[in-house]
Amino acid sequence: MTSEYELMRQRTISAIRSVYQRHGAGCCLHAVTDDGNTEDSSALYVLGLALDKGHDDCMLAAQGLADMRRTARKKAIAQALARDASGSVAGTASSAGST
Ligand SMILES: [Zn+2]
Repeated sequence: MTSEYELMRQRTISAIRSVYQRHGAGCCLHAVTDDGNTEDSSALYVLGLALDKGHDDCMLAAQGLADMRRTARKKAIAQALARDASGSVAGTASSAGST
């Protein structure tokens, strides 16, 4: 069973990953996801940036982060960026063969 909240969380995590695939430093999300400013005010700040710049992926990720409590936010960020620690990055279509 997947709750609505969990779906939102997963969408947010995939959105963060896609932002990082496009922009190595996390684009609008940088202050929260890279600098570790995980307060509510920071989440709202990066959401504002994303809206200003009109970045759909940043907006989606920032909106999701803004909707979470701080502890959940930190966990989601850690999950989104844990490329090595927790295995595969879901949602990337780069399952090409070996070299
Ligand atoms: Zn952006």
